[in-house]
Amino acid sequence: METQIDEPPGDATVPASLKADSLSEALPDIKKFHGKTIVIKYGGNAMTDVRLQEAFAHDVVLLKLIGMNPVVVHGGGPQIDEALKKLGKKGEFIQGMRVTDQETMEVVEWVLGGEVQQDIVGLINAAGGQAVGLTGRDGGLIRARKLKLQDLKDPSKFHDVGQVGEIESINPAVVKALQDDAFIPVISPIGFGEENESYNINADLVAGKWAESRGAEKLVLLTNPPGVLDKEGTLLTGLTARTIDDLFADGTISGGMLPKLSSALEAARSGVNSVHIIDGRVPHSLLLEILTSQGVGTMIKSH
Ligand code: ADP
Ligand code: MG
Repeated sequence: METQIDEPPGDATVPASLKADSLSEALPDIKKFHGKTIVIKYGGNAMTDVRLQEAFAHDVVLLKLIGMNPVVVHGGGPQIDEALKKLGKKGEFIQGMRVTDQETMEVVEWVLGGEVQQDIVGLINAAGGQAVGLTGRDGGLIRARKLKLQDLKDPSKFHDVGQVGEIESINPAVVKALQDDAFIPVISPIGFGEENESYNINADLVAGKWAESRGAEKLVLLTNPPGVLDKEGTLLTGLTARTIDDLFADGTISGGMLPKLSSALEAARSGVNSVHIIDGRVPHSLLLEILTSQGVGTMIKSH
């Protein structure tokens, strides 16, 4: 890695002994997570600030260099909305899923698979890592089919949300090969169907399914609220399947938090050891979550 000589050597207000303590505190986690897959959803809403983006990229590179296998799945809601606006279109959502007509699908493909993915790849590379961007089409990574969205209140009713997909299968071969070669995969949540048609898949679902199917140690979903909030707006630091059911039932969870929390719970139930929804607006929230005892969001457990 390049040495930066034009920057001051860290924050001089933090005593050296404290810095040493923090590094030392990380040792058990570094050992525990060595060689383990850590799936990180980098959310549309958590990636709107350049400084935070750079800090995120540094964290991912650091995790890779100390021996973990980070896999980044990215979103891009705000970026897609912006592109749609330029075309005079407005994003529409049903139960947190973007209604995706053909024109919207084209926008989703070029915004996610082009701009957003390449921005993240560039940031990770600038931080000293080697990132490779992939969509679900590359190496046959994500096979998808059209999602029939079940109504939350009336299970006999289904919504047509256009070219929104659900994952049929994942073929991890290309990602495995990249990881073995010290690359960091950055995956755009676009799947492809039997006739090579494209599907827009909610990135939280891709991250969750990826973590499940790869037996990941951790799933970390970075977002822009501080985590899951209760009706009063207070952070819920720990949730289990039962409390989550209650939150769904009483309407505490809505919009983009619906697929996020379902996906997190599903991953926890399928054996992903630790699942967290954290505040991507806190600088280095990823490192804080993985390498310190300081929680920065909501931990989801199956029971
Ligand atoms: P991301 O880009 O991170 O996926 P989303 O907009 O899809 O972000 O999902 C996060 C949003 O979910 C929050 O900004 C908030 O508006 C909404 N939300 C709904 N219910 C809750 C809740 N109980 N706690 C936190 N956020 C919630
Ligand atoms: Mg979302």
